[in-house]
Amino acid sequence: MSSYPDARRRQRARIFLIPVLWVAMSILGFAQDGGIRLAAIPEDPRPGDPVTVGLAMMAATARDTNLRVVLLNAQGQRLSRASFFNLTTDKDGTSLMAAILAVPSTARPGSAVISVESGSGSMGTMNITIGSRDFVSEEIALDQDNTNLRTLPDPKKTAEANTLWAILSRTGTEVYTAESFKSPVTSTRRTSFFGDRRVFKYVDGSRDTSIHAGIDYGVPTGTEVRACAPGKVVLARSRIVTGNSVIIEHLPGVYSLYYHLDKIAVSEGSLVLGGDLVGQSGSTGLATGPHLHWEIRVAGENTDPDACVAHAILDKDAIVSKLIPVH
Ligand SMILES: [Zn+2]
Repeated sequence: MSSYPDARRRQRARIFLIPVLWVAMSILGFAQDGGIRLAAIPEDPRPGDPVTVGLAMMAATARDTNLRVVLLNAQGQRLSRASFFNLTTDKDGTSLMAAILAVPSTARPGSAVISVESGSGSMGTMNITIGSRDFVSEEIALDQDNTNLRTLPDPKKTAEANTLWAILSRTGTEVYTAESFKSPVTSTRRTSFFGDRRVFKYVDGSRDTSIHAGIDYGVPTGTEVRACAPGKVVLARSRIVTGNSVIIEHLPGVYSLYYHLDKIAVSEGSLVLGGDLVGQSGSTGLATGPHLHWEIRVAGENTDPDACVAHAILDKDAIVSKLIPVH
């Protein structure tokens, strides 16, 4: 049969081609099964820190799936999660995506796993290490009005809580900033810290515990409060518990919150630059004195504002430089 030598040649060609293709795909970072590359920044977060997860994969695959990242502890329990959003798509058809999640302040130190999940299960995992961290404990005695604010059932309060959660759990697509955040006030006088373990003492002597979600600045009523970064105002209104409140969206799933304001200087839907006036501080809502409560939420999770000041949350160059193939 004259075709026999041709078949042999084709076979040789294929044997030669497969390693060449394999090496080329490895350089690009793709396994032959359409694998992915992942980066986690930082790889050693502390409780309360944001973690930016970079993901590179073929755009055609990325479009098919509802991609999210999940942070699991060593026991496989889910600590937090976030959705991916697109950063860039290269000419070669590679999509670079990012998802920003936060390590809950209650997370225990030790090894943890970042898992990229699609509708059909885990696409790849990466190990990170959660560091240890101590938080301040404090006891706060509440008067009758503040006790009522926390303890009395109120359908309006419940409705406001539901509205707030709907906003904070939403992952948009706009990247308003890639820079690190700046403190909303010039004062460095802090009366409560991120992650404080609080015990509220009610007027009847009973107690309740909570974790402080942000930083309290002990500033006098009327102090100028400024946007910590560029973004879009997604809430600017009076709320029962948090008083005059402003929420700004900065990145998909990343929000800054300003509570207990005396006056609000922005309106819902408007765009702000970092440093723009948000309002004047006060003591509206549940407050034991004039202060600014500044809070950052990442994918719904309380996040340490200091960590967002120390580092840019979305550093694309850093993400690209840290991508590694995973399975
Ligand atoms: Zn506070």
